[in-house]
Amino acid sequence: MDAFMQAAIEEAQQGLAEGGIPIGSVIVHKGRIIGRGHNRRVQQGSAIRHGEMDAFENAGRQPARVYRESVLYTTLSPCAMCSGAILLYGIPKVIVGENRTFLGEEALLRSRGVAVEVLQDETCIRLMQDFIANRPELWNEDIGE
Ligand SMILES: [Zn+2]
Repeated sequence: MDAFMQAAIEEAQQGLAEGGIPIGSVIVHKGRIIGRGHNRRVQQGSAIRHGEMDAFENAGRQPARVYRESVLYTTLSPCAMCSGAILLYGIPKVIVGENRTFLGEEALLRSRGVAVEVLQDETCIRLMQDFIANRPELWNEDIGE
């Protein structure tokens, strides 16, 4: 297992332990994690704290150059909002844990030149499948349904 995807999974598990939605993300610059986070919509009553957005926020303000040299890891295929942030900051590469439970805007990312790699990791799939089965209303809220 990729150490950075493992870190994203640990974030997802922490979110679940907090009563939230188990999606985690890390942003890696030159082999070092500069931001990590997990979905905190439930915990913070937030409209925008998806895992990827939380990782961006926790990375703080970064020079444009840093974003353009970074890789974003996320346990789940990124939604329209998070894909927008990825495009805005010019992240060139996204590693996705899985896209079986939810397929986000991967086609949009690829059409804009972002390299998207999908691992179909069993741990990521199980985290989401179990969560969706247990808390369907929270999950639907998260994807705007
Ligand atoms: Zn999102």
